[in-house]
Amino acid sequence: MHHLAQIPFPEVKRLAAGGRALTILPVGVVEEHGAHLPLGLDSFAAEVYAASAAPDLEAGGYDVVVAPTINYGVARAAIDFPGTLSLEPETLRSMVVEIGRSLARHGLRRLVILKGHRDLHHMKALDDARSILVSEKAAQVLVVGFAHDAEMTAACYRDGVKQFYQSPRPDREGHGGESETSVALHSFPQLVKREVIPELTPNFDYDVEAFRNETKDYWSISDGRGYFGWPQAASAETGAKLVAVRGANIARVILKEWGSPGKS
Ligand SMILES: [Zn+2]
Repeated sequence: MHHLAQIPFPEVKRLAAGGRALTILPVGVVEEHGAHLPLGLDSFAAEVYAASAAPDLEAGGYDVVVAPTINYGVARAAIDFPGTLSLEPETLRSMVVEIGRSLARHGLRRLVILKGHRDLHHMKALDDARSILVSEKAAQVLVVGFAHDAEMTAACYRDGVKQFYQSPRPDREGHGGESETSVALHSFPQLVKREVIPELTPNFDYDVEAFRNETKDYWSISDGRGYFGWPQAASAETGAKLVAVRGANIARVILKEWGSPGKS
């Protein structure tokens, strides 16, 4: 796995010439995730899943290049919480299109946009970016992680993980709950406010439809708590399993879609 920002230009030339390069662009956001988790969680998680998917993609024949993460996105649902920052969708779309065009100019024409954040306008902006790049024939583009396409989201993040949940209501685990807290405890524990977690009571009885469809804001549906589910059910052990399975899921989705380089 190569981090684009950490290698010199001749290496990019070599990777492009090899014909096996696949660039992952992690896209996150700055958004509240409860009183116990950092605002950058979705960005960090996208990077963690990229690193977890890389070995399987390499085994499939690809040279994996990870571009610097886009740490800003559209975060309208949680905008009332201090620190949440939101771009206009067209700003995000333009960033991704311009990054994709630049990569393509240098021969990096396979782009995977890996989304760590679910917000309907955010996801649409990235779908639109994909459509533009594909229509310009700039690159092959795949959008993975949280996606408008519920099947894609499930294939990446939900398949094969249900049995890991310790929560009594896994169907109510969401933003800032058991899953995200577990991933944070495993992958960036230094950023988790562990002393706060025992005070966090379960939030199971929220308006699920309003949460999914973003018809109400996170502040009002969570009573200002900012998490959905029960962070106390989380553990680093669960986080390790979630990261491994979701990384493998993402690699499988990409390999299914594109095959191995040269064979597609
Ligand atoms: Zn999140």
